[in-house]
Amino acid sequence: MKGSRISIVGGGIGGLSAALALQDFGYRVSVFEQTRELREIGAGVVITPNAMHALNFLGVGERISKEAGPTEAYLIRHFQTGEVIKIRANGTDYVERFGATYHQVHRADLHAALAAAIVQNDPDCVFLNHCFETLTQNSEHVAATFTNGKTYTSDVLIGCDGGASKVRACVFGDEVVNYTGQVAFRALVPMANLPPGVMKIPYAMFVGLNRAVLHYPLRHRTIMNVIAMAREPKWQEEGWAAPATIEELARLHSDFHPDALALMHAISPGTLFKWGLRDREPLRQYTKGRVTMLGDAAHPMTPFLGQGACVAIEDAMVLGRAFAAASTFAEAFSTYENTRKERANGVQLASRQQADEIQGVTKRGVNPGATADDRGLYLYNPVTAALAPASVKGGSL
Ligand SMILES: Cc1cc2nc3c(=O)[nH]c(=O)nc-3n(C[C@H](O)[C@H](O)[C@H](O)COP(=O)(O)OP(=O)(O)OC[C@H]3O[C@@H](n4cnc5c(N)ncnc54)[C@H](O)[C@@H]3O)c2cc1C
Repeated sequence: MKGSRISIVGGGIGGLSAALALQDFGYRVSVFEQTRELREIGAGVVITPNAMHALNFLGVGERISKEAGPTEAYLIRHFQTGEVIKIRANGTDYVERFGATYHQVHRADLHAALAAAIVQNDPDCVFLNHCFETLTQNSEHVAATFTNGKTYTSDVLIGCDGGASKVRACVFGDEVVNYTGQVAFRALVPMANLPPGVMKIPYAMFVGLNRAVLHYPLRHRTIMNVIAMAREPKWQEEGWAAPATIEELARLHSDFHPDALALMHAISPGTLFKWGLRDREPLRQYTKGRVTMLGDAAHPMTPFLGQGACVAIEDAMVLGRAFAAASTFAEAFSTYENTRKERANGVQLASRQQADEIQGVTKRGVNPGATADDRGLYLYNPVTAALAPASVKGGSL
């Protein structure tokens, strides 16, 4: 298998992590990304111990930790009274419990660390401005065609092109996609612009009645990441970058605590974006012939457990290990899928459940739901988790 050609479609967090893991085990990869520049949107992402294990193994953990800064405990607050309902652990507690820390990271920093590492391994591995269109596969290779008219053949292809994956549609056909009736907003606010109330409790999530507002600092407390979620019956765009107004955000949360509203009003006009949350049924299989799926392309999930990127990184780590352990591509894909499907699809379904819990109100008041930590999700270590045996031995690939 060494010396083979491996195509990765999509250069997001999942695709770059997969590229790095495969390179780490001695494989050469080509990453095809539709954008003209390799970059991520301006937003935060929580990277929890389960994913940090893999990033540490792949040699980028230290850079990410340094750029993010220490993680403090964050507080879950009642959306109206601001009362603290639950306190989550801080970074040191996580190291003691799981052997790896927890970081709130600027997505661009995580993405840049992964990109720098793969390009250092192989300066020619990234193909920008390559928007995947379709593929064909036969007993010898898989051929991917891009909208720029180019076609590349490889031994295998990994679809990492996100929640609206074209690779998945090509391989598994079109599927039902449900708009969840929920819209998410995102913004970054310089810490210097924040009112004192918000500064007193910088790591917090307000939960209550069909809505949640989450905020946490990035880059050593220089920028505040703001995420808000609310019910919005009207169909919303899927992309991450539809412009939104502070007025519509504040209107949807008008009964929230003054700290939450002050935070919303500190957002500069033109820097607030929204997108509609979609939900898809878990894939019954990830692999067909020479093609497999990874990250959101395999298991797109709602963001309520903050695990989509972490699970994509876990996938990547296990994929690299499966390649290292196998003697054929068929075996490698089978081990990868058998090891990952239950875990990743399970997190996908748990995220759906958490959406209902966190946004509801029980008789006892608002419901913080069971966090990813409460659900034991951080106990998984993709570097050491047992690989499931392949369902095929040898195989024609
Ligand atoms: C509000 C919100 C908050 C979140 N917070 C967290 C969090 O705190 N922690 C966490 O772990 N996860 C979080 N997530 C989930 C996380 O962002 C995703 O799960 C993660 O980005 C998935 O990575 P990916 O690489 O699989 O897909 P993507 O990030 O979607 O990347 C796909 C890549 O493929 C490219 N692409 C798409 N189509 C094509 C094509 N046809 N041809 C070529 N390239 C293509 C795209 O340009 C992109 O670069 C959050 C999600 C949301 C919506």
